[in-house]
Amino acid sequence: MKTYFIPLLFCFASWACNADKDMAMLSDAPNKQMQQATPPDSVLALLKRGNARFVSKQSFEYDYFKQIHQTEQEQSPYAVILECMDSRVAAEVVFNVGLGEIFNLRVAGNVVSEDILFSLEYAVEHVGAKLIVVMGHTHCGAIKAAYQSYEETLKNPHHLLKQIYPAIQTGRSLDEIAQENVFLQIKNILAQSTIIAEAIAENKVKIVAALYDVETGKVNFMNNSK
Ligand SMILES: [Zn+2]
Repeated sequence: MKTYFIPLLFCFASWACNADKDMAMLSDAPNKQMQQATPPDSVLALLKRGNARFVSKQSFEYDYFKQIHQTEQEQSPYAVILECMDSRVAAEVVFNVGLGEIFNLRVAGNVVSEDILFSLEYAVEHVGAKLIVVMGHTHCGAIKAAYQSYEETLKNPHHLLKQIYPAIQTGRSLDEIAQENVFLQIKNILAQSTIIAEAIAENKVKIVAALYDVETGKVNFMNNSK
């Protein structure tokens, strides 16, 4: 009686149930079996709950050395994040995940290049990551630099800045351009990688758009079906 009653009590409120489940799941770094048993939507839910913990100052504290030990031979992260190099946007912290949970690709303006594309394909095809998150952020220096060079019609803007130009034509404010740039980079990934496009078509992998708010710590997931 007692053994049934206690978990029921904990699961009475769904947040408590999820927090409990997350703690059990995330205290151990994922192995291949755990990774493969977690569908893309569950990985997305895990990241959303992690950010909710971060924002509400209820982040889990990880035993990193236990996770180092668990991942010393192999890694099986759930997700791969493509995000800006900005020092305020640290994915492991803002999603409150431990070691071995996510790949983290960082480059100014979270733009897609050949090297980034190969890294994304490696994460998905060879390591089995289930979710790709392309995450821009508010007050982005790369977006501002791209906007300025576009407005000033610089003769030789850097290739990286030029990659952001199509987003400038659709966004009205800098933060809106950052948002449009995320959609643009997702479009680039899907157009340039058959491996990723196919994995998504087969529902093995999901790709989602997100914008991190540097003023609140909140990750806003956006509808990227447009
Ligand atoms: Zn940035």
